[in-house]
Amino acid sequence: MTMKLQIEALEELAALDAELRELTDRFTKDQKVLSDKKAVAKSLEDRMTRGRQSLGEMEKARGDLVGELRQMSIQVERSREKLSRCRTEREANAAQREVEELRKLYRDREIELEKLDGLIQQGRGEFDQVTEQHGTVSGELGSSESDSMNRIATSEEELVRKQAARGDIVQRIKPDLYRRYEMIRKRKGTALAWTRDGTCSACHIRLQPMLFQKLLRADDFGQCPSCNRILYYRPAQQPEAEGQSGSP
Ligand SMILES: [Zn+2]
Repeated sequence: MTMKLQIEALEELAALDAELRELTDRFTKDQKVLSDKKAVAKSLEDRMTRGRQSLGEMEKARGDLVGELRQMSIQVERSREKLSRCRTEREANAAQREVEELRKLYRDREIELEKLDGLIQQGRGEFDQVTEQHGTVSGELGSSESDSMNRIATSEEELVRKQAARGDIVQRIKPDLYRRYEMIRKRKGTALAWTRDGTCSACHIRLQPMLFQKLLRADDFGQCPSCNRILYYRPAQQPEAEGQSGSP
């Protein structure tokens, strides 16, 4: 394994790792967008269910209250009749008190009914709003879900394919050099940098002349004293390799 072949393999690996990183980011983002939208739709559905339930309960309570009011107005009517049939003052006073008490109860129930009507109206308004939001989100999901799913599936296939290609490249790199590469890549995101004029292509620090001279001999890789990336000398006449590696 000559130095030249090692450099070639490392450059290919660095370029592929950059693609893999981008692909993974896109894949993760697509998945997140989809799952976020689904979570929003789900929470709106839950709110709709709760809203429907609470409206049902309030309407049931309203029905009971209306029934009670009807019942009470009959009682008030009866008490009034009773009052009109009273013979003694004592009887009349008692009957009068009963009518007044019943009327008061009736008014209390009427106020309750009014409050309940207000709550029902508010609940319906909220329910309509949530239903509309849910409609919008499900519409968006419906139109974008299959697209996202396709895109996610394609990215997944591409990832598998590229991972296999990566394995082939790794075979061409000396194990200790690859271990060094991986260690730096996991910490920094990228592991390879080159120099042409004495500065590191990744962190742009000026290298010490001794190091630069050593790299110029091109018999071994060096390490950037600032960013720790694997360093090698790249001569100017390599346009095809331009931009494949090194930039952070
Ligand atoms: Zn550096």
